[in-house]
Amino acid sequence: MRYISTRGQAPAVGFTDAVLGGLAPDGGLYVPEAWPTFTRDEIAAFAGQPYTRVAAAVLGKFADGEVAEADLARMCDEAYASFSHRAVVPMVQIGPQAFIAELFHGPSLAFKDVAMQMLARLYDHFLTQQNRRQTILCATSGDTGGAAVEAFRGAKAVRIVAMFPEGRISEVQRRFMTTASEDNVACLSVAGTFDDCQAILKDAFQDKSLRQAVDLAAVNSINFARIVAQAVYYFTTAAALGAPERAVNFVVPSGNFGDAFAGYVALRMGLPVKRIVVATNSNDILAKAFSTGRYARGPVHATLSPAMDIQSASNFERLYFEGVRREATETARAFEAFAQAGALDIPPAALSAMQAVFTGVAIGEDETARTILATLNETGELIDPHTAVAVAALRHVELDGPTVVMSTAHPAKFPEDVARASGVTPALPRGTASLADRPERFQHIAGEAQAVKAYVRAFAER
Ligand SMILES: *Cc1c(COP(=O)(O)O)cnc(C)c1O
Repeated sequence: MRYISTRGQAPAVGFTDAVLGGLAPDGGLYVPEAWPTFTRDEIAAFAGQPYTRVAAAVLGKFADGEVAEADLARMCDEAYASFSHRAVVPMVQIGPQAFIAELFHGPSLAFKDVAMQMLARLYDHFLTQQNRRQTILCATSGDTGGAAVEAFRGAKAVRIVAMFPEGRISEVQRRFMTTASEDNVACLSVAGTFDDCQAILKDAFQDKSLRQAVDLAAVNSINFARIVAQAVYYFTTAAALGAPERAVNFVVPSGNFGDAFAGYVALRMGLPVKRIVVATNSNDILAKAFSTGRYARGPVHATLSPAMDIQSASNFERLYFEGVRREATETARAFEAFAQAGALDIPPAALSAMQAVFTGVAIGEDETARTILATLNETGELIDPHTAVAVAALRHVELDGPTVVMSTAHPAKFPEDVARASGVTPALPRGTASLADRPERFQHIAGEAQAVKAYVRAFAER
C-alpha cells in the first residue's frame, strides 16, 4: 500500500515512511492511495473478539506487509496492556438507543492514549529496524504531552522532550508528564504561554543546524497511524451493537477532527456508518463548515472543554481531499488560501458529499455544564466536559438506530469543573491514585527558543 499527499507534490511512500514522516514534505497530509476494505463477514466476526485482535486486523490492512503479522499482534497487545479496563474501550448505555464508548481507560485518562500507545510501538519498531534514534519534541496545552510521555517512556529508539507553559496546565495534567522516571523523558516548564511553546517548537523544527545534529520528530494528530488506531473502536463498538446488519451512528467531541475522521475511515473500509455527528464547543469552525459550506477560522475561546479549543482542524484537509474527489491541485489551492486568509469555501458537490455523512453541532458552555448534571441524574454516569458536549449534541439531531457517543476523557481529569456542574467530585481511578505522591522531575527554562534548543541538543547527545 502506498501513501500519497493531499497536495500531490510529494512522492508516494510506504507505511513506514508515512508514519515516521508525519506531515508530507509538500505540506499535505498522507492518505492511502486506495481505501482497504473488510467484507461483511469479516466485520460480523469482530463481535466478541478481543480489542487487540481487531486492532491488529485494522492496522494490518494499512501496514500491508511492512510489519510482520506476529510483530503487529505483539505491539497491539503491549499497547493496550497499559489500559485499566479489560475491554480496552467498554460501552455503557445512557438511553434506549444511546451508548457511551469510554475511550479514557489509558494511562493518562484521555482518548489520546488509544492512538499514542500504538504510535509509540510503531516508532520504536521502525527506528530500531533502521538503526535510527529520534528525539520527539512536543509542546502541550494539556492532554497530548501526558499521553505522549506515557506512551514513549522507556522506548529504546526514542527520547522525548515535553514542553508545557509554566503554571498554565492543571496539576493532574502536569503530573502525568513529570512523574515519569525513565531517563529517555525530559519535561520543560517554560516561562511563557502555550503559544510561546508552539513558537519555540516551530523555531526548533526550522533550525537546520539543530536538525543536522538531532533527528527530530513530532507526534501531532495529523500522523496517519494515529487515525488508523482510532478507526479500530468504530469497528469494535459497531460490531457489538449489531453491525454490519444494523448501521450505527456516532457522535464525536471534536477539535482537530482526527477522531471523527477515523469514523469516516471505518466507513470507507466497509463499516455501515449511518451518520457521524461532529460536536464542537463554541470554537465551532467545523460545525459551521458542515452547515454553511464555509470553513473559516475565528478567535479561539477558552471553554470547559479545552482539548477542543481549536479553530483550525488539521485533519479536515483529508476530508476535503475526499470531497473534491481527490483533486490534489484543488486541495493544495484551498489550504494554501486557508493558511493565508483563514477561510475557504467548500465546493457545492463536495459539501453535499460531506453532508451525506456528517452533521455539525456546536454547544455552548451553559448547556455543557447542564448536560453533566442531567446525565448524572438520568443515568448515574458522571461525564467530563468534552463528553458532555457530545451528549448535548445528541439532543439536537434526529438519529435512528443505535448511536455511540465517544467519551474522550475521564471526569477526574477535570475535577473542579465537573464538581461545579454536578456537585460530585470525581475520584482518580485506582491505578492513577498514587499520581499525587510520586516525585516530579522537570526543569524550569526560559521562554526562548535558544535555551530550549540547547537543552534538546545536549539531551539528545547524552
Ligand atoms: C484531543 C481531544 C479531543 C478532540 O479530538 P480531535 O481528534 O482533535 O477532534 C476531544 N476530547 C479530548 C478529551 C481530547 O483530548
